[in-house]
This record gives sequence, structure tokens and C-alpha cells, in this order.
Amino acid sequence: MKTLPTYLQGISRVVVDAAVADSPVAQRVREKLPHLTAEVLAEGEALSSGLAREDILYLKRYRGRFLRHCPGTSHYRCCGYQIVHIGENCPLRCSYCILQAYFQDRVLKVWANQDDLWRELDQAFSANPDRRYRVGTGEFTDSLVLEALTGYSRDLIEFLGSYPQVCLELKSKVVDLSWMDVVRDPSRVLPAWSMNAPAIADHEEQGECASLEERLAAARTCAREGFRVCLHFDPMIHFPGWQEGYARTVEMIFDHLRPEEIAYVSMGSFRHMPDLKRCIIENFPGSGYIHGEFITGIDGKQRLLRPLRVEQFRFLADALRRGGLDRQLYLCMESDEVWQAVFGRTPADLGGLYRHLMAQAFGE
Ligand code: SF4
Repeated sequence: MKTLPTYLQGISRVVVDAAVADSPVAQRVREKLPHLTAEVLAEGEALSSGLAREDILYLKRYRGRFLRHCPGTSHYRCCGYQIVHIGENCPLRCSYCILQAYFQDRVLKVWANQDDLWRELDQAFSANPDRRYRVGTGEFTDSLVLEALTGYSRDLIEFLGSYPQVCLELKSKVVDLSWMDVVRDPSRVLPAWSMNAPAIADHEEQGECASLEERLAAARTCAREGFRVCLHFDPMIHFPGWQEGYARTVEMIFDHLRPEEIAYVSMGSFRHMPDLKRCIIENFPGSGYIHGEFITGIDGKQRLLRPLRVEQFRFLADALRRGGLDRQLYLCMESDEVWQAVFGRTPADLGGLYRHLMAQAFGE
């Protein structure tokens, strides 16, 4: 049996809803974790996770909407992409992760009723055959962290192969390229990795994520296979030595990738609600950035003071521009004023952020 990645070795229980006990996802999990006998929950029975200190994998029959709008905010320039909701929670536990405020347990949920997912997606995409979609799965979980067990992204890519109007972004901090051989058209899949300063990747991402080098090496493999990749500097963190750190990461990017191999690069400053601050202080007492100079934004979230944000964004944008990127760069959840101060232009100058990123995603 192939050894599982270390970030999956902590799974101590598998629980499955009876309705999906024979689903392809459940069958794969059985094969990959033969030493764990799945507990089957009858219809209406709830999972009791107690105060589990180890990860529980829960294959669930999901009854909500799978295709959703990104929970961006109307107050700032939002990128307008849609989420394909495939599950919730993540075993990687980055110190800054918003999921620790959403899900205060160690239950990794996977929506195993994929037939319902396929039905909903088909209805949405077939009802609007002329509309293009930019979708991604990395909002409530990491897109690929459970891939070695579930093969979920592989299934999704195979399914979406019949819908050329859809571009799927797979956003991750691990390296798993096992989905690659089912891609029909590499221009419709955007592998994406989170980037940060090396000190943040080393100390705030808990050691089980792939290193920045490994992420960029995987991005290069994808680029050589004809994919364009995305990079996300989100959250950027203000810490002593941030200039050298982010400059080093930019150097590494251009050691691995040519500008034309990159579809887009986002930049977002660390932002948080009070709940997340409490979680970070409790769970990661060594993470000093949480005590930085924050101010409440019009969306109610705490964010770094604007002059400090602009300074960081400008520094990073200038370095990326020197490497040959320009129209690929965008800011996550920032106002026109901040855009202007960083890039000397607003999303309107690009035809609107939604349209611009759609064009970038589809390689126009
Ligand atoms: S990889 Fe992403 S989803 Fe997982 S813990 Fe880190 S920030 Fe959260």
C-alpha cells in the first residue's frame, strides 16, 4: 500500500452516512484506510465527535447547495468567483486559517453524494450555456489535501471536461498532481498554490504543508504540461523582516516560472473577525502578528492599517512587475483607493475585476 502523506496519517476514525456508504468516494477511502473500519450513521443519526484530538474523516450526504458565490463583501472589490462546495475543514492547521473559527472540531467533512453535485452543476451550467464560470473548491477546505484518499478533484475535473465554459481552480498548500491525467483541456484547469514569505510558510503553516520550493516545483511541472498556474499571497502578514521575506519568495517564483505561465496572482492582507483572533491567541500563542496594528474595516473585519497595507502591496507588486507580471496582479477585498495607490489604476481601468479575471482565467 502506498504510504499516505503525513498530513493524512493522523486520521483515527472514518464515519460515513448510510446513504453514501457505497459511493465511489467511500469505496476509495476504504481501500486507502483499510485499518480503519468505517462507522455507518443511520439516516437522522448525528456524528458525535466529542473533544477528539485526532482527525475524523466524515463522508457525508450533503443536502445544501454545492455551487455558491464566494462570501466576498460588497464593500470592496471582489473577484466574483464561485465555489464548488466539496467539503469542510482541513488537517493542515495554518495559524491564520479562518476555518478554525468556523469549525471548532477536527472533523474533516467530505460531501460523498457526488451524484447530487453532478446534477446541480449540470443544471446550472446547462441553463446558461453561453455564460462562463470561474469556479474553485479551496474556500472551506484545501482543494487537494484529501485528494490521496478521496480522488474528489479528479472526479470533478473529469465531470467538468464536458463543460468547456467552466474553468476550475484548484487551490492548495500540498503537492498532489494525481488528477493531471484526466484533464481534457489544460486551459480549463488552473492549479494554484498559496505563497508567503519563507518565515511565514515555515512558522505559521505547521510543517505539513509542502515547502514553497515544493509548491513552485509542482507549479513548474504543471506549466511544462501546458497548464497556467495561479499564485495567492493571502494572507500577507506584517512581521519584522517582511521585505526580505517577500522579496525572496518573488525571486523563487521567477526561478521556477515564466510570467506567461502565470494566469493571475492575488494579494490579500491578513484580516480577521474577533472570533479568529481569539482562536489564534489560544491555539497559536507564538504567533505574534495577531497583535499588530489593526483597524476595523467597513465590513467589520480587522485589517492592518491602510498605509501599512499599501506599503506591503506596493513592495510586492513592484517586485512582481519587475519580473514581468502586471495585468495578472490583483488585490483581494480592497477599495479603489488602495488599488490606485498600489497599481496606479482601478479595476474599472481593467474592465471590471470580475470580467478581467474571467479573461485571465480563460487565457485571453
Ligand atoms: S491549507 Fe488553507 S484551509 Fe488548510 S489550514 Fe491552511 S489556510 Fe486553512
